[in-house]
Amino acid sequence: MRVYAIPMRTRFRGITRREGVLVEGPAGWGEFSPFAEYGPTECARWLAAAREAAFEGWPAPVRDRIPVNVTVPAVEPGRAHEIVRASGCRTAKVKVAEPGQSEDDDLARVEAVRDALGPSGRVRVDVNGAWDVDTAARMIRRLDRFDLEYVEQPCATLEELARVRRLVDVPVAADESIRRAEDPLKVRAAEAADVAVLKVQPLGGVRAALRVAEACGLPVVVSSAVETSVGLAAGVALAAALPELPYACGLATLSLLEGDVVDEPLTPVDGAIDVRRPRVREAALARYEADAATADRWRARAAEAQEVLGGDPAIGVVR
Ligand SMILES: [Mg+2]
Repeated sequence: MRVYAIPMRTRFRGITRREGVLVEGPAGWGEFSPFAEYGPTECARWLAAAREAAFEGWPAPVRDRIPVNVTVPAVEPGRAHEIVRASGCRTAKVKVAEPGQSEDDDLARVEAVRDALGPSGRVRVDVNGAWDVDTAARMIRRLDRFDLEYVEQPCATLEELARVRRLVDVPVAADESIRRAEDPLKVRAAEAADVAVLKVQPLGGVRAALRVAEACGLPVVVSSAVETSVGLAAGVALAAALPELPYACGLATLSLLEGDVVDEPLTPVDGAIDVRRPRVREAALARYEADAATADRWRARAAEAQEVLGGDPAIGVVR
């Protein structure tokens, strides 16, 4: 088992360096990279995903390319336009409701993105739960002038999402509301969303995520947890195995990292990622090898998660 630490080009969730464990098994490499705030119980699911990747492999794909969205941060309109044009993507996810910015800033950014994509492109906005119900209803109606595909997590709670959903015509996607395997069923029971954003690691692997998708009965957008290409490959495998994939996925996240650990990274070409499993390159792995203290911390996290998870193979155990 190897521990990596890769500087981030863009700050994400308050971190400037992405870290995690890579483990090799008979089926290939797996990634275990839970965010820092997660304890052993939560981490056990992330470890299960790594174990599946390394020891079991993934279900057969039903498609060979995964359309992906470009993500537009809360930048000024001219920059937003450039980012979309440079991406080659036909779908853009625009961050809105940034603290310190106005509603007009959001409108101008979304307008620029619509202009960059033209009428056939798709524009979704991501609110990260920042609006209350009234603001959400008002802003979604204003932003829908630019024809929104859906609005991601307009409010924080399921109750609020359900209310927003009854007030507007634009579909609502649940992202932060889905962090564990049982969450999609709660989203469905609350009638809180039209679309489920799913990530492989927090749900415990590709098969677990497929079961969740089936149980919740909503169309799925597969998103990454900002992993190396090793972790991203699992997201690609999930997107490739879903019976239906009506929306572009949030898997174009490698550009957030300064580097990667494989021969041919899973970067999008013409707005889509090929379904494949890249090979880990030793020189790249060595370049981003974590220092001893970081590695010890991650071995301890993996061992704790292993204890919760139980069973074999015991990849979290220090050998
Ligand atoms: Mg989101």
